[in-house]
Amino acid sequence: MKSHSSFPEKVLIIGSGIGGLSTAIILAKLGFDITVLEKNPKPGGLMRSYTRDGIECAVGVHYLGSLAQGQVLRKFFDYLGVTAAIPVTRMGQNGIIDRYIFDSSGNHPATFDLPPGMDAFEENLKQTFPAEQKKIAAIVDPIRKAAAQLHALDLLYSTGNDFSLLDQSRPLGEILDHLKCSPGLRSVLAVPASWIGVPLHDCPVYYHNMALASYVSSSWRLNRSGSDMADVLAARLKELGGEIITGAEVSQIHVRSRVVTGLQLTSGDRLTAAAVIGAVHPKIVLKMLPPQGAIRPSYRQRITGLEDTHGIFSVHARIDGDTHPEISHNIFKIETDRDGNVQDLRFYQIRKSEREGINLLSILTSGKNELWVPWENARSGRRGNDYLEAKERHALQLVREAEELFGSFKGLKILDAYTPLTIRDWVNSPGGSAYGVLRSSSQILATALLNRTSVKGLYLAGQNVMAPGIIGTIMGSFSTVKLILGADDFRKVIRL
Ligand SMILES: Cc1cc2nc3c(=O)[nH]c(=O)nc-3n(C[C@H](O)[C@H](O)[C@H](O)COP(=O)(O)OP(=O)(O)OC[C@H]3O[C@@H](n4cnc5c(N)ncnc54)[C@H](O)[C@@H]3O)c2cc1C
Repeated sequence: MKSHSSFPEKVLIIGSGIGGLSTAIILAKLGFDITVLEKNPKPGGLMRSYTRDGIECAVGVHYLGSLAQGQVLRKFFDYLGVTAAIPVTRMGQNGIIDRYIFDSSGNHPATFDLPPGMDAFEENLKQTFPAEQKKIAAIVDPIRKAAAQLHALDLLYSTGNDFSLLDQSRPLGEILDHLKCSPGLRSVLAVPASWIGVPLHDCPVYYHNMALASYVSSSWRLNRSGSDMADVLAARLKELGGEIITGAEVSQIHVRSRVVTGLQLTSGDRLTAAAVIGAVHPKIVLKMLPPQGAIRPSYRQRITGLEDTHGIFSVHARIDGDTHPEISHNIFKIETDRDGNVQDLRFYQIRKSEREGINLLSILTSGKNELWVPWENARSGRRGNDYLEAKERHALQLVREAEELFGSFKGLKILDAYTPLTIRDWVNSPGGSAYGVLRSSSQILATALLNRTSVKGLYLAGQNVMAPGIIGTIMGSFSTVKLILGADDFRKVIRL
């Protein structure tokens, strides 16, 4: 029996990404009767990888932060009961998590290595920028505090309201201007902001610090695939009595007098429940609601007006494993302007594949939405040959560019490339946005408390609620459960 009596027992959750599945597991553990509806044939959303030539190609999980004992993601995985079933390898054994390689045009170092551990990070910064010791201390100190807050789960357990972070909402770019940081130091600090999809001049400092802290604290790679991670979470939910219905696209959320009554699938099937959680983008939830009367016009306006993060273009290619051995850290190639602002970046991983003697090269970069406009009105699989050719050309260009760093690739075969349109159709992300709503300083108020709607019994979960990434999204799931249970009961029944 559920442990919280005033909330309806039956809960329907839309979407089986990490947001939907983690919310489902938390509520199932508390005794709620959970059904997850997923439009795709398999659960997992962005977590799920896909197979080409017998090789697993990652989509939304390339590495994870903070899985060491006592750190935030480890606490989450332990609570969900999946730690042992998701084997991982710690990165940074060679002292490097990420290697930043800068183009030659800017006024910055040729490379910077992001090491594991806050002390090592500070030390590397100080060695690379010896004239800026005091500025570096002023920058790293808040990142250290962010790490402590993150692992102590202050965002979930603090008794202050969620607006307490507003005093840290100043853009990092503005702080670096104020400190008069050199373009070189600025370019190094600009990488994490760019990577999470927010430009430096509009990236709230707490958001940057939390994201960076989560990886510097410890970074990990999955030993098995993203699909395997999705299957582990799905199996865990079923073990707790929850149900996942795949191939079930939700088209409408039913509301009577601003109270949820259930939902309807595109098949026409109806399910009733007094509680629905949309673990999908808020704009998608909005489309499911009756056009008039269900929600306040101000709420509709706020959600419709939200700016989203950009999309991502990604290439997977197989290469000869002996000539191009696995690289245990990530590599970023970064283009900056003369002031140290990131213009564009490439992310590279070379990893062992499931096949003997073959390694997998993965490249991620900005989606360049303008390239794909001619096909934006067609769905995946129906965009025709010219789209496939444009994708292939872009992929090949990125691979050739990668050869400037790694040397000519022996045994090269491009396995697949995906565009923002692919992501848009795969998980229903507006415009193919990779990380959902833009968590910028300019949008700080509009993006606050996104899991609360004006409809009784309707909540949101997923990456849009608090922050993207596996950590941010699961944090959002706990935050939604806190909203459902009430802060006092949450503190009593959920011990992380
Ligand atoms: C290219 C890329 C690389 C990334 N790399 C990393 C990384 O290395 N590490 C990291 O921590 N994070 C990474 N992220 C971010 C991370 O993957 C996401 O933040 C997280 O997976 C989002 O989870 P979610 O549950 O909110 O959304 P999703 O995974 O998008 O789940 C939403 C689900 O809802 C379903 N759905 C949508 N509409 C409906 C409907 N009408 N009816 C039924 N179901 C519906 C979708 O099919 C989908 O399964 C990456 C993201 C991208 C795009």
